[in-house]
Amino acid sequence: MAQQFNKNISEEKVVAEFAIRRAKIAQLAIIVGVIAGVVIIFLYQDIASNAIALILLVVVFISAAFVNMKVWRCPSCNGHLGKLYLGLKEPKHCPSCGIKLIE
Ligand SMILES: [Zn+2]
Repeated sequence: MAQQFNKNISEEKVVAEFAIRRAKIAQLAIIVGVIAGVVIIFLYQDIASNAIALILLVVVFISAAFVNMKVWRCPSCNGHLGKLYLGLKEPKHCPSCGIKLIE
């Protein structure tokens, strides 16, 4: 009997799961953009102090770092997918296990 190569999950499931992750990251990019815009308006209009703007920017930075660490991973092998480009540049294949990520 021929030895079958066992994958944890099928390629279709990996592609589907990766599409969900990319959608989450796209949503985060929009939220980050809105918060950055609000911070700039606050500073420009003198509504908030520099301290509040700094706190908002730190929150944005931490959440972006968290998403990069936790979400930007291969659904199959859980390997990190390298630099996060917020949807501008997306890996077609996992750099760790080589599985197809985008149809
Ligand atoms: Zn992988």
